[in-house]
Formats: sequence, C-alpha cells, structure tokens
Amino acid sequence: MSARVLDGKSIAASLRARLAREVAALPAPPGLAVVLVGEDPASAVYVRNKGIATREAGMRSIEHRLPAETSQADLLGLIARLNADPETDGILVQLPLPRHVDSQAVLAAIDPAKDVDGFHVVNAGLLATGGPALVPCTPRGCMILLHEAGIALAGAEAVVVGRSNIVGKPVAQLLLAADCTVTIAHSRSRDLPAICRRADIVIAAVGRPEMLRGDWIRPGATVIDVGINRVATAGGGSRLVGDVAYAEVAAVAGAITPVPGGVGPMTIACLLDNTLIAARRRRGWKE
Ligand code: NDP
Repeated sequence: MSARVLDGKSIAASLRARLAREVAALPAPPGLAVVLVGEDPASAVYVRNKGIATREAGMRSIEHRLPAETSQADLLGLIARLNADPETDGILVQLPLPRHVDSQAVLAAIDPAKDVDGFHVVNAGLLATGGPALVPCTPRGCMILLHEAGIALAGAEAVVVGRSNIVGKPVAQLLLAADCTVTIAHSRSRDLPAICRRADIVIAAVGRPEMLRGDWIRPGATVIDVGINRVATAGGGSRLVGDVAYAEVAAVAGAITPVPGGVGPMTIACLLDNTLIAARRRRGWKE
C-alpha cells in the first residue's frame, strides 16, 4: 500500500484564497500585530512570512521588532497598548522570548479576545469546556487536514504523541470534541509502538526526527506529522524532516502529511483565519 499524501500546501492556499475574499468584503481590514523580541534567525523568518501572508490576505500587518534586551515591563507596556488599540484585532508574540522575560506572564497579559495564537489560559479553558475559544493554529490546521481528507472521526481511535500546551493537548481536545477516542502519549508512556498501532489516526508532535517507524502504524491509518526537525545531510547541508519516518510509514498508512508541505502551511492559514474570527467577534461583524 502507498499512502495518499495530504497536501497541506494546496489546502492552505485554498483557505487563504477564501479568507482574502471574505476580508475584501469587510468594512475595514483586520489588523494583526506581531511582536518579535531579539534576533533569533528562525523567529525572524517566521515573523516575515506571517507579515507577507497577512498582507496577501488583505489584512494589516503591524510588526513590532524590539531589541533582545527589552525589559519585561516595556514588553507588557506594548501589550497593554495593543490591547487598547481598536484597530488591532490580533496580537501574536513570537516565541521563544529572551530568557529574562517570563513568557507565561506576557501571554497572560494579551487580551483573550485578541489572542490569535490561542495560548491564553482563558482560550485553553474555553477549548476544554466547548466554549467559543480562539484555538491554537497548528492543532486547528491538523483538524482541517483531517476534514479535507474526508477522514471519519466519530468513534475513531486517535493517538496524539506529545502533550505540549501548543500542540499535543489542544489537538487532543479537538479530536475529543470531534468524537474520537483519544489517547495522549508522552515521554513517560510505556510501549509507545503498541499504543500507536491501535490508532486509526496518529498525530505526531514530538520534536524527534523520524521517531515513529513504519511498524508502529496500523495498515490504512491516517498519520499527521506535526514535527519540524532540521537534520544534517551527508554533503554538509541540512534538510527538514518530521517526527515520522516518512518512507516507511507511507508504505503502511492510508494517508500521510509530508514534511515540509503538510501541517506547516496550515498553521499560517489558521493564524489568518483566527485573526478574521477575532475581528468579527470584537467588531460585531457577522460571519
Ligand atoms: P515540545 O517539546 O513542547 O513537546 C514535545 C512533546 O513530545 C512532549 O510532550 C514530550 O513528552 C514528548 N516527547 C518527547 N520525546 C518523546 C519520546 N521519546 N517519546 C514520546 N514522547 C516524547 O514540542 P512542541 O509540541 O512544541 O512541538 C512538537 C514538534 O512540532 C516539534 O518538532 C516542533 O518543531 C513542531 N511544531 C510544528 C509546528 C508547525 O507549524 N508544523 C508548530 C509547532 C510545533 P514530555 O511532556 O513527557 O516531555
């Protein structure tokens, strides 16, 4: 068997095109503020790409680039101004923050109604209790991929490997809300291969290159690979791989996401969607 490849790039492109059409019909463009502290090169690339995608969707991108030595008080002051600004619909603070800044305190300071990353405890609580949360972007992207692929969720056995607040836990909540029977595995789980083998749907969010092997996967299962790992190549360069040993797993699975080009593009598309949702809710624009 050779798995169907779930093309996140093209699904994300369709979603972004639909969002651009919806934004064009609004009374004013939604505004997304992105805050970058310091010069981490990967973060700088993410922020630049988010800015480009935001403008392509017809929204306003407001980028705040602050020096690495910015104090926590100054950062909290900026968040307070963005919270109060009626033109700012979404606020995203790019992580990781420098070590002298308490990330949790900064995330907690964002108005939950503008928390387009969905990391605020209010949004985590709303998600857990079935309320109108702003849902973290990567987990939402995983669910859209499953939906677009026509994967039956009700009653399915889903195994999430990883329990982070930004991927593992929220994607498990979304699968549960979609009537899957959900298992969350982590570094202390016993016999991970056996846990994965009983799944109809496996979500890998571990951060370990190619950890999930072909013989961990039940024939025909759907595998969503969230991992993004840069590994060295023999020629002295590097390449991106997921948390799943792609060739082995694709030979067994029914459907699989590639890395790159699977979950990654969905994350940015969902950020734009969250900004549109936040703008509509806050400004009373109808959906
Ligand atoms: P974290 O490091 O926060 O969490 C990793 C999780 O994996 C932890 O719960 C950890 O368990 C678990 N884990 C680690 N080692 C093992 C192991 N050997 N066996 C079982 N479980 C293990 O990572 P994130 O959730 O932030 O990210 C996961 C991956 O997804 C990374 O590769 C990241 O780059 C990628 N990512 C991709 C995004 C995208 O847009 N595609 C967005 C966000 C992340 P424990 O809790 O016990 O330590």
